[in-house]
Amino acid sequence: MGQLVTLHDKQFKPYLSEQQIAQAVNKMAKQIENDFKNETPYFLVVLNGAFMFASDLVKAFGKQCEVAFIKASSYQGTKSTGHVHLPDGITQDVKNKQVVLIEDIVETGTTIETLLAELKAAGAAGVRIASLLIKKELYHKPFPIHYSGISISNAFVVGYGLDYNGLGRNLKEIYVLA
Ligand code: 5GP
Repeated sequence: MGQLVTLHDKQFKPYLSEQQIAQAVNKMAKQIENDFKNETPYFLVVLNGAFMFASDLVKAFGKQCEVAFIKASSYQGTKSTGHVHLPDGITQDVKNKQVVLIEDIVETGTTIETLLAELKAAGAAGVRIASLLIKKELYHKPFPIHYSGISISNAFVVGYGLDYNGLGRNLKEIYVLA
């Protein structure tokens, strides 16, 4: 594992190794394969944070699939604004598709709640959720997280796609506020 990293005014320490992340990603890919024996998943990647996870997940997924992207944001610095912004709305043709939302992290669940409502309104046949990380203590919404990788404590994390005010997305491991 690496050293402390400094991003803007804050220090972060190593939290989840590349190996732990890879194990979780591979396990999730196998679970999705098992559930999609006769259907083609439409992976909808929630940008920006899920780009790295999504890349590894779809490579580990051994069957045919579609991959599309949607932009969503709710965070400023290390705190959620509580409001989810979808700058482009749903422009993808999700009608009659079996959507699997690929999220980096679920905290309160407001992001997935907003996306679920929009996707259903846009005619998706089904929506499942795959999130690499989940902050279980903070998640109280009724929607199932069908595929979740690693449960983490209530702390701010960066790396492997996740940022702190724009920095840290390229780190190969996941770091937590020191
Ligand atoms: P929710 O809507 O579930 O409360 O929050 C989910 C979104 O907030 C994630 O997609 C991510 O953008 C952001 N988020 C939540 N927790 C963290 C965190 O610990 N670190 C970073 N970088 N983003 C987070």
